Amino acid sequence: MTTSHRFRAIIVGGGPIGLMAAHTFYRAGIDFVILERRNALAVPEAGGAGIAIMPNTLRLLAQLGLLEAVEAIGTHMRPGTVVTSDGRPFSTLDTDGWCSEFHGTGWVMVHRPELMQLLYGALPDEIRQHLFPGKEVETIETTEEGVVVRCTDGCVERGSIVVGADGAHSKVRDCMRRIALQESSNAAVNEEKPFVATYRCVFGHTVSPPPGINPGDEWHMHGSGISSLLLAGSEKTWFMFSQRLPKPTRERRRYTKQDINSFMGELGHAHCTSTLTLNDLYQARTSCYLTDLHEGLIQHFHHDRIVLVGDAVNKQTYNTGQGWNTGVQDVVVLTNKLRALMENETNHDAPISKSKIQAAFGLYQRDRYPVVQQAVKASMMLTRTEAWNHWYDWFTDRHVLPRTGGLKRIYRAFLVPANVNAQVLEFLEENNRPSGTIPWLHGTKGDQLKTSPGTD
Ligand SMILES: Cc1cc2nc3c(=O)[nH]c(=O)nc-3n(C[C@H](O)[C@H](O)[C@H](O)COP(=O)(O)OP(=O)(O)OC[C@H]3O[C@@H](n4cnc5c(N)ncnc54)[C@H](O)[C@@H]3O)c2cc1C
Repeated sequence: MTTSHRFRAIIVGGGPIGLMAAHTFYRAGIDFVILERRNALAVPEAGGAGIAIMPNTLRLLAQLGLLEAVEAIGTHMRPGTVVTSDGRPFSTLDTDGWCSEFHGTGWVMVHRPELMQLLYGALPDEIRQHLFPGKEVETIETTEEGVVVRCTDGCVERGSIVVGADGAHSKVRDCMRRIALQESSNAAVNEEKPFVATYRCVFGHTVSPPPGINPGDEWHMHGSGISSLLLAGSEKTWFMFSQRLPKPTRERRRYTKQDINSFMGELGHAHCTSTLTLNDLYQARTSCYLTDLHEGLIQHFHHDRIVLVGDAVNKQTYNTGQGWNTGVQDVVVLTNKLRALMENETNHDAPISKSKIQAAFGLYQRDRYPVVQQAVKASMMLTRTEAWNHWYDWFTDRHVLPRTGGLKRIYRAFLVPANVNAQVLEFLEENNRPSGTIPWLHGTKGDQLKTSPGTD
């Protein structure tokens, strides 16, 4: 494809979604830069969470030629066990096996910093020159002709569009809102603080396996107002432990080491496996953080020449492992729409008009909104069921589901749609597409995929 020499995207944020956008934009022939406020794009020793990569994202990674590398740094989980907070097993689940059955491939657990290093390292040298660390975006102006982005160090970037991949507390989203309100005080805009935290979470990892833990082990704990998840990789073990907050908040709270210590004092005795408590994992930790888990979905994914992706659009807890995977889909769909926009341009030397850009953004939101909404709802529901939000959550989770094999049906009903509704890059070939009992609903250009009842 001949790309428009006048079209340039400014991606704000070089997190795991910004780096995925670098890959898909590069493959689509879309000129871009990434502005990242941190001083490095992929730091090897950084702590952080694990990320579960779901079958739909593995399918995309195969298209990008990255699947083998991701599988090499990742681990598939064996069937897991659910325990009470005093360590009594009461249920089992096999999400990797269910994914293999439904989609023809399981899911892979990776360390987030390693994933980011892999994504960064896999970009060609000339593309990496387009990634700028140490650039914190402060303001955005839009005109009929383009965008002007200013950073706190005085640097100015000009382009055709801004893609906000700058996380849950997005500056780009703030700028987009301000621009819309300047045009009209009655403009339909996103809430200033659109996400609400009802839970907070201690999460971390250990580099040597805690006693009795082997690669591929998966443990869940469900309790009253609390829940946890432990996943063991071949080298690292990740743990996440959440607690319901006394009251929901929209604020961004920064917790201190003292806050972590008092969390441990309050809940360290709770089990995460049948033998290990949260305290045991904390003692063995290499990294550990405490954060509020914001949740929600914005109403307006774009305005003017600005569009949002990833955690800037939707925020989910870790419970369904869909946050990053959902953002990857934003990037894929946006890339397809922008690529189509450029392909349809007959004059590649003329700038693409603002109205055409806005139409492409509209198609992006049209495709993504219902799928993201469903994923966010599923995440909220499962988060609350696991933390026994009401007596009927406790009763269903503790007594009904284990006896009826209901967890697999819940997985089928609430998590399969996000996978089978997922899109791939329409303009790249797919070799060896995985296939399971539930067909994918979208393929590359020219594919004739069947729709399956009950998945749309
Ligand atoms: C404990 C935990 C476990 C999780 N587990 C999973 C999982 O298993 N599976 C899954 O799919 N998801 C998981 N997630 C969610 C996942 O981590 C997020 O969805 C993902 O990180 C979102 O990526 P992002 O790039 O949109 O945002 P972020 O990761 O927040 O990155 C945003 C980037 O933008 C930069 N930035 C911010 N402001 C500016 C600015 N003004 N100028 C320039 N740059 C800026 C930031 O420095 C950052 O690098 C988990 C999250 C947590 C907390």
